[in-house]
Amino acid sequence: MTEKITVYQVDHALCIGCHRCFKVCTYQAVSGNPKEKHTIDPARCMACGACFDCPKKAISKVEVEASVRTVEIARVRCECCGALTITTAQADWGSRRKGVNAEAFKLCDECKRRRMVGQARQLMGC
Ligand code: SF4
Ligand code: SF4
Repeated sequence: MTEKITVYQVDHALCIGCHRCFKVCTYQAVSGNPKEKHTIDPARCMACGACFDCPKKAISKVEVEASVRTVEIARVRCECCGALTITTAQADWGSRRKGVNAEAFKLCDECKRRRMVGQARQLMGC
């Protein structure tokens, strides 16, 4: 199975070139001059989410093949199954900026789901 990663992208139909995303991206993934359409380079986007607060809601997440990212990044490994999940930048951003408990990033979605099902079964005694 081809490995997928999450990156952010700009909808050019909505972008007004306010330049906000360019200014907040610390990975130099955004290009564009003020008052022009901006673009996110998936090779550099670390999916930290810092640019998501676009006044025109022009920025969204998209799944792409992992091979598009030519810049080396660190990713969190699920402590249960070992699968690579979100980037450490995303986890860091989620913990620091959004106040999410760091424990929430230790498992991949599938292992989280399995664990929740197991806990629910235990509670119900089945
Ligand atoms: S923040 Fe949104 S509207 Fe502003 S330049 Fe970026 S994508 Fe365009
Ligand atoms: S998600 Fe983060 S790394 Fe990607 S373009 Fe936005 S600010 Fe830059």
